Amino acid sequence: MGICTSLMGCRYKSGSKPCKTCSHHVTFGYTIIDGREYTWDFNPRFGPLFECASIGKRDWVPNSRHKVWKAFEAWLKETQDD
Ligand SMILES: [Zn+2]
Repeated sequence: MGICTSLMGCRYKSGSKPCKTCSHHVTFGYTIIDGREYTWDFNPRFGPLFECASIGKRDWVPNSRHKVWKAFEAWLKETQDD
């Protein structure tokens, strides 16, 4: 699921297909790891913005070995491929 935040109307949108290549397109994902819920907003230009609800961290950058990256990468592959 995603939204386009373009205020001018989106020229990348075709029919019901989301504008995945548009810099205004934001997709939301989440996963649960070790009982903690992690959410992210993903923008193709700016990348993911993570949030860990359980520990109340916003705009949080997980370290490179964090399990959330693996979940994010799997999600990315699943959602961004046509
Ligand atoms: Zn768009």
